[in-house]
Amino acid sequence: MSALILDGKAVAAAVKAEVAEAVGKLGYSPGLATVLVGDDPASRTYVRGKRSDAAEVGIESFHNELGADVSQEDLEQLIDRLNADESVDGILVQLPLPGDLDSERIVERITPGKDVDGLHPHNLGLLVLDRPGLRPCTPSGIMRILAHYDIPISGVRAVIIGRSFLVGRPLALMLASRGVDATVSVGHSRTKDLAAVAREADILVAAVGSAELVTADFVKPGATVIDVGINRTEKGMVGDVDFDSVREVAGAITPVPGGVGPMTRAMLLVNTLTAARARRA
Ligand code: NAP
Repeated sequence: MSALILDGKAVAAAVKAEVAEAVGKLGYSPGLATVLVGDDPASRTYVRGKRSDAAEVGIESFHNELGADVSQEDLEQLIDRLNADESVDGILVQLPLPGDLDSERIVERITPGKDVDGLHPHNLGLLVLDRPGLRPCTPSGIMRILAHYDIPISGVRAVIIGRSFLVGRPLALMLASRGVDATVSVGHSRTKDLAAVAREADILVAAVGSAELVTADFVKPGATVIDVGINRTEKGMVGDVDFDSVREVAGAITPVPGGVGPMTRAMLLVNTLTAARARRA
């Protein structure tokens, strides 16, 4: 049996079409401020992609670029200006920040209502409380792709490998939230017999950053496997999952590229729309 491929590109296109339609009915263009510090090529590509996605759905983007030598104070002042700017509904600071810049302090400086990455402690707190708020984009994108393909979640066993505040931890809360109702385990670098833990999963999520760590022996036959990893290797970009072997065991699997990545980008647009509606209501 070969697994169903969960096509993140196609689902992201559907999400973008929904956002474009909703933006068209607003009567104004939501504004997304992007902040790029330094000249890391990957960060530059990500920001360019996010701005072109925004343009596609009718969100106006305002780009701010600063040298890697910018001081913490000057960067915080830029955030303050964007917080006060009425045309800005969402602020995206591309992470990681170079040098000694304190990214936690920068994220905390963003007004929670404009925190379209969903990483401000206020928004993460709302997630813990199961209350509405701006959610981190990658876990939201994973929830959306699972919903799109009607993957059963209620009562099933989910295992997430990786406990970052960006992916693993918020996703664990989302999957275990009331009404979603998965039973969730979170693995990490200290987990004993990771493959055995992973094999218990009906939904297995790999968010590690280790090329092809998850092999077929990690996967229960028929499980849904979500590959968050982005690893640049000699053979090009690969995920945390050994796609060729795992697709023969899994019931469904996201590819890399074309799985979680496009969903993350699409959810940034959803968050910008949500932020604009809440702010301008
Ligand atoms: P991170 O902050 O580095 O966290 C990695 C997690 O993996 C940590 O919890 C770490 O455990 C765990 N880990 C590391 N080696 C392990 C091993 N051998 N066995 C089990 N667990 C291990 O990474 P992240 O920001 O969550 O990102 C993870 C991956 O997803 C990266 O490849 C990143 O590029 C990618 N990513 C993709 C998207 C997307 O849109 N597709 C978005 C975000 C991130 P400890 O906590 O014990 O150290």
